Amino acid sequence: MNDIPEESLDPSDWSNAQSIAHKMVDDAIEHLSSVRDRTVWQDLPDGIRTHFKAAAPNDPMPLEDVYDELKRTLIPHPMGNIHPRFWGWYMGAGNFTGALGDFLAAVDGSNLGGGATSAAQIDMQVVNWFKAMMGFPDTASGTLTSGGSMANMVALTVARNTHAGVDVRAHGVAAMPQPLRFYASDQAHSCHPKSLEALGLGNTSLTLIPTDENYRMDIAALRTAIASDIAAGIKPACVIGTAGTTNTGAIDDLVTISAICNEHDMWFHVDGCIGALIRIAPDHRHMVAGIDTADSVALDPHKWLHTPFEAGCVIVRDAERHHGAFEMHGDYLQMQERGLLAGPFLADYGFELSRGFKALKIWMSIKEHGLEKFGRLIDQNIAQGQYLTARIAENPVLELIAPTEINIVCFRHRIENATESQIKDFNTELMLQIQESGIAVISDTTLRDQHCLRVAVNNHRTRTEDLDILLDAVINTGAEILAER
Ligand SMILES: *Cc1c(COP(=O)(O)O)cnc(C)c1O
Repeated sequence: MNDIPEESLDPSDWSNAQSIAHKMVDDAIEHLSSVRDRTVWQDLPDGIRTHFKAAAPNDPMPLEDVYDELKRTLIPHPMGNIHPRFWGWYMGAGNFTGALGDFLAAVDGSNLGGGATSAAQIDMQVVNWFKAMMGFPDTASGTLTSGGSMANMVALTVARNTHAGVDVRAHGVAAMPQPLRFYASDQAHSCHPKSLEALGLGNTSLTLIPTDENYRMDIAALRTAIASDIAAGIKPACVIGTAGTTNTGAIDDLVTISAICNEHDMWFHVDGCIGALIRIAPDHRHMVAGIDTADSVALDPHKWLHTPFEAGCVIVRDAERHHGAFEMHGDYLQMQERGLLAGPFLADYGFELSRGFKALKIWMSIKEHGLEKFGRLIDQNIAQGQYLTARIAENPVLELIAPTEINIVCFRHRIENATESQIKDFNTELMLQIQESGIAVISDTTLRDQHCLRVAVNNHRTRTEDLDILLDAVINTGAEILAER
């Protein structure tokens, strides 16, 4: 032995670490319990950007000082999605128990690639809960992923392998006897073409089917597309139904799509990143009828379950096909009958090997609140979306741009005698001023060449009065911008 002292990353003084950790929890509770009193979002001061350009330090710094630095530089400038008036894009609002779950998961430290750990049991239990929520049988499989994009990609991989007509894992897409075709509505999320690119099929293997006046997939057009592809020697492989489109929250006719997939021996995938969980909402669960007949469903606990980022989930009816698409073990990872690697091997259900213990934050908040409450919160957000829609409809200064199916409201401020591009510039300015005011965060989109503002009420902290505050801000800010023109 030489005489260089051996080191570790553990605190040299645990009781000091303990008091700092206690302080962090106290501050976190203060931060969350007063969130309503702060602005939703503020732009970063320039000093912050400069501050975070510093190189990695070689020298140590007491944890207390590290935390003090974050109190000045991180904590005042969040995205704001935990605030009751954040309705941009489609975020969850997080929850404190979930944050504790992330902490405890890191303390437990298990790698969820698999193994004989309670963490792996909890991971499987949470997946089983999602299977039950979707009405899938016990024999189905599933896995937690970073988010919806990865969940969809896992499902599309199994769909591709099932219909490739060749052992595509061994021989690749070049060996497929026929080109494959996937179908989704023209409102489908961008993660689908991105996945098909990565899967070697190219994004032209995705046919975007037109949508009706409610932004739902036009079923007659789907039938026509499938028939003409068959006639052209192309193999229809999969229909991706969307339960809750990102633009407007439209829900495709899942029952009919399911029947069409049966008829043509196609894979039926549902992208339910927004709407799959409506199946647990008592007043609206009928809206996602048919989801329980899918071959696979992607859903996003970090959206409507408010799991702190990140957490996605995919469930697959045919567990064998799911496993068959991903199973692979290096020499250094052979399964055993006993010991730590006696299973389960969770990495056999997706692309990732090392996996975090994402299940715990979901598990803890579902245990604490119960599923019924999560269902009621979904109903509550849908009711709030309807309230906002009704208030917009009765206001002559505003116009709705799409029907409100669930909790996503698309509307804009009118201006007299203006071109489409002037209307877009005006509403964009309006959106940015509202974001910058700190009163609320909303986002925008374009629907059939009409630009509009978009409010996604996916937030368990939102109260109806918050939506009144938003409308006042839209009207007042709109009047100010008009007066300056
Ligand atoms: C959000 C969303 C996704 C992508 O999910 P991430 O969790 O952001 O990766 C996919 N599909 C739909 C319909 C979505 O709304």
